[in-house]
Amino acid sequence: MTMNRRSFMKLMGAATGVGLAGVPYLSSAAEILPKKGRRVVVVGAGFGGSIVAKYIRMTDPTIEVVLIDREKKFIACPFSNLVIGGFRTLEENTITHDKLAANHGVKLVFDEVTAIDTAAKKVVVSGGTIAYDRLVLSPGIDFRFEEIEGYDPVKTPEIMPHAWKAGPQTLLLKKQLESMKDGGTVVLTVPPTPFRCPPGPYERINMIAFYLKNHKPNSKIIAWDANEDIVSKAGLFRKGWTKHYGYDAKDSSKGMISYHNNSKLTKIDMKAMTVDNGVESVHGDVINVIPQQKAGLIAHKAGVVGEDKKWCPVNQVTFESTLAKDVHVIGDACSAAPMPKSGYSANSQAKVCALNVVQLMNGQDLIPPSHVNVCYSYITDKEAVTVSAVYKEAGGKTIAVPNSGGVSPDLSELEAIYGKSWIKNILTEMSS
Ligand SMILES: Cc1cc2nc3c(=O)[nH]c(=O)nc-3n(C[C@H](O)[C@H](O)[C@H](O)COP(=O)(O)OP(=O)(O)OC[C@H]3O[C@@H](n4cnc5c(N)ncnc54)[C@H](O)[C@@H]3O)c2cc1C
Repeated sequence: MTMNRRSFMKLMGAATGVGLAGVPYLSSAAEILPKKGRRVVVVGAGFGGSIVAKYIRMTDPTIEVVLIDREKKFIACPFSNLVIGGFRTLEENTITHDKLAANHGVKLVFDEVTAIDTAAKKVVVSGGTIAYDRLVLSPGIDFRFEEIEGYDPVKTPEIMPHAWKAGPQTLLLKKQLESMKDGGTVVLTVPPTPFRCPPGPYERINMIAFYLKNHKPNSKIIAWDANEDIVSKAGLFRKGWTKHYGYDAKDSSKGMISYHNNSKLTKIDMKAMTVDNGVESVHGDVINVIPQQKAGLIAHKAGVVGEDKKWCPVNQVTFESTLAKDVHVIGDACSAAPMPKSGYSANSQAKVCALNVVQLMNGQDLIPPSHVNVCYSYITDKEAVTVSAVYKEAGGKTIAVPNSGGVSPDLSELEAIYGKSWIKNILTEMSS
């Protein structure tokens, strides 16, 4: 069953929609999709949300599941760097959720969730409210734009794209590279951890370098990393840069990539096209600013973000918020370190969360979690590297199981082939 904003408004009648904007507590607002039995509402139909919705229905079909996303089509970030490299299309990264409805009876709602009343157990969409017994939030990330002087949340991404939410931003960055002269300078800034996809910025460097090597070989990439070192697969990335892009750690004037650690972006100037780290200012013909991150805004509005004002603390077995009863948070938005903020982590957390939500709703014992994560990063179109680990809960914390994973022994053509099958499988699982 699919409902959109128009059908909601039809159901409600126009009068009931009046006066909803900006009202945080809406117990009196129109209830849409009246709740008849037990219900879980899921906010966000990305890597975490689509899977938790599907697995709750697969585990206990007597529980109604309502899955809400503002977008009808989901565009995946994993492998979106390859679009910038020029050997994948954004369409290949795009899925819909119709089959979650057809095959599993998930009720789809396409609307913006504007508020959550955790006391009344209702979420607010543009058409009214939807009641829940349990709520799962998987809203991904939003940005801490305010930490960069001169950054305008609306204008800056149009000039200095982040491309950290796949879609038009990805295509804009690609277009800017295509329009740049041969011999131009691309500047890329990496935010402090934790951020969505630890190896992602370095794969982005590879993919920009791959494009430039093939089309604008006299160009240069300056990478400013706010962190002490490359935060994931450092040795393998350096090896790839040296092998394919002439990187020289001792002499940044050589090769295509000039990498600088402990170099945190503090200020930008959109007119001058410069970035500043408090020590120096550099000009870029193309500037890819990846801002600092936090849990998706709706998690902040729901009051489930911790004292750090960034991420959501959760019970590591159930992913239930430690701040709001019957609200679970999974994916990038939750704190589950040492698990990285990745699509695969979100998928794994979603399955654990789904099982334990069903156990809780049926008064059964909780199931101890076992998670897995693998992150593929492409060095060129033909070579990739991975990092992987298995995680479990111990003493209330998530830990990496000793000796359970590691990184690829070398740059590998096989990993590049396996990676393509990983993305196909995970996107198929989310959309079938
Ligand atoms: C360049 C790049 C490369 C990456 N590569 C990899 C990789 O190779 N492997 C990997 O595992 N991970 C990778 N990732 C990380 C991965 O994309 C994220 O970790 C993953 O998307 C997190 O899943 P999520 O469910 O938390 O959020 P998302 O998948 O972002 O889903 C969030 C959903 O919530 C919706 N939403 C948010 N707020 C609202 C609201 N208020 N109302 C309605 N809907 C809302 C959004 O529209 C969105 O559909 C990469 C990320 C980037 C940026």
